[in-house]
Amino acid sequence: MNSKIWLSSPHMGGNELKYINEAFAENWVAPLGPNVNGFEEDLENFLGEDTKVAVLSAGTAALHLALIECGVGYGDEVICQSMTFSASANPIAYCGATPVFVDSEPETWNMCPAGLRQAIGDRIKKGKKPKAIIIVHLYGMPAKMDGIIAIAKEFDIEVIEDAAEALGSTYKGQPCGTFGRFGVLSFNGNKIITTSGGGALVCHTQEDKDKIVFLSTQARDNAPHYQHSHIGYNYRMSNIVAGIGRGQMEVLNSRVEARRSMHDFYVNIFKDIDGVTVFSEPSEDFYSNHWLSAITVNPQITGKTREELRMAFLEDNIESRPLWKPMHLQPIFENAPFYGGGVSEKLFNDGLCLPSGSNLTEDERLRIAKVINDFFGK
Ligand SMILES: *Cc1c(COP(=O)(O)O)cnc(C)c1O
Repeated sequence: MNSKIWLSSPHMGGNELKYINEAFAENWVAPLGPNVNGFEEDLENFLGEDTKVAVLSAGTAALHLALIECGVGYGDEVICQSMTFSASANPIAYCGATPVFVDSEPETWNMCPAGLRQAIGDRIKKGKKPKAIIIVHLYGMPAKMDGIIAIAKEFDIEVIEDAAEALGSTYKGQPCGTFGRFGVLSFNGNKIITTSGGGALVCHTQEDKDKIVFLSTQARDNAPHYQHSHIGYNYRMSNIVAGIGRGQMEVLNSRVEARRSMHDFYVNIFKDIDGVTVFSEPSEDFYSNHWLSAITVNPQITGKTREELRMAFLEDNIESRPLWKPMHLQPIFENAPFYGGGVSEKLFNDGLCLPSGSNLTEDERLRIAKVINDFFGK
């Protein structure tokens, strides 16, 4: 059996253990310490001057705290992109609120601004203004932020950007994760950089960051005894895990380059195969980290389905995956309102994510290319 080729696997830079060893040497084996502060500083430097970053135990935890800080509570409604991973929407349920899903547009696969406008208008007409909008930059592709932000401003609704997949991506030169009131990052094992598990919330004021750190460390009031006037959470990042993050930040730019080169590799393979489209930036305004390279397969033109291609990969021990199944089609959210048409459903039916790791070797690339070329008879 050939060795397994993963969709996206961890890729260490080299200095991660150095930071972890420092933590052990100084006994900072706790959810605070120099690595936590250092990792936050690295992220702030990367994302730009006006950012304040709080590192947390997961991207999902960051979303939960962002919703709480946007005032989302029991009975509220939150608009969320339907085409995404369930972790974008689950925290809405943690708050006792209801998600209102909006379809994608076909260029970036992210929330359709026209659908967003329609959803807000209709929810207001039905008597409830949504409390927040969760927008996702799928597979690293920036959403159409000009349109989204303009609509959010017009109706005075907070924007939370789920940039879990988009660290290193930019829209009109501005980093993804810095457009909304809050931006969510993830350092899960499969993301562009990883801390084994972890996340961060990007804020824009010291006040917001302080509040997030306070809530994530059990919300202890300033008193010598244990005094609480807020419900707290245990969501802070460990100083050990943050050490991995500091090592990974040293190589983030080269990881973005390598993922983008995987995208170019697929563009080159598929350029002569009619009916297969590689997911690519619609214009120069969009700069994707191409966390995952993805394609859509048109069965009418190719005479083949994406599922048959997935099985061909599997036979060679190569992992590929259908795109995220839209949230409005998930059993857990079957009663949630949905605005839009069939864009995300069609993407789910025809789309496939391909091996995209920054650590794929030349031999592995050759294996991938051979499966594709054999499958399409090239
Ligand atoms: C990975 C991911 C998350 C969750 O991040 P965790 O750190 O795994 O909790 C949220 N949203 C999207 C779009 C993701 O891909």
